[in-house]
Amino acid sequence: MNPDQKMIILQCWDDGVTDDTRLTELLKSKGAKASFNLNLGLNLKERSYSFCYKEKKDVYRLARSELLQTYEGFTIANHCYEHPWALKISHEEWEQQVIDGRKALQDLFQQPILGFAYPYGQSDKRTAEVVAKAGHTYARSCENATPCTPTPNAFSQATDCHFHAPDFWERYQKAKETGSRVFYFWGHSYEFLSEEHWSSFSKTLDRINNDPETVWGDLPESLALANKVQS
Ligand SMILES: [Zn+2]
Repeated sequence: MNPDQKMIILQCWDDGVTDDTRLTELLKSKGAKASFNLNLGLNLKERSYSFCYKEKKDVYRLARSELLQTYEGFTIANHCYEHPWALKISHEEWEQQVIDGRKALQDLFQQPILGFAYPYGQSDKRTAEVVAKAGHTYARSCENATPCTPTPNAFSQATDCHFHAPDFWERYQKAKETGSRVFYFWGHSYEFLSEEHWSSFSKTLDRINNDPETVWGDLPESLALANKVQS
């Protein structure tokens, strides 16, 4: 199959939590590319408590000093400086969160920060304009769409689905059948609650790797291409 015709697999993970250390090791061992949406204002000197997920797991943010090593070889994108609700803070505060988040990430990782993910998936036209103006090339929402490209609006970019979605493989198949250039999924590593979850995701990566009709792609380049080629 011509590599240009293969469906490109994109994935991104949010929040900069401690389970990302295991996730990035797993991804590296499988040769899978990924982008991580971080809130640098919440990665403090030490690991810090964030919240309890589904009353089952205490979630901790990585320490600032762990970030470079954890995410080496992956793409970094902006998830705001902290993790605010876009529609619950003032316009000025939102601008500050977006701009400060991007600057802090660029300063630390020394790579262009072009992607953005809305905290809690929340946005509207006005908050999206701020993200575009700050120098990002796309912003991911929490909406699902298959195919997810071409998107009607790069600042409200849907993904195909969440990694835990029960219809993950159906959507994967649908993306192929509709001739989509990409299949894009997302999640949080704190959602791995058991060894079974880790093993199931490892099998997901194997299945993608064993599919001759797909190839891992980089955010934001492959996404931009898929939106441009088809529009
Ligand atoms: Zn988040």
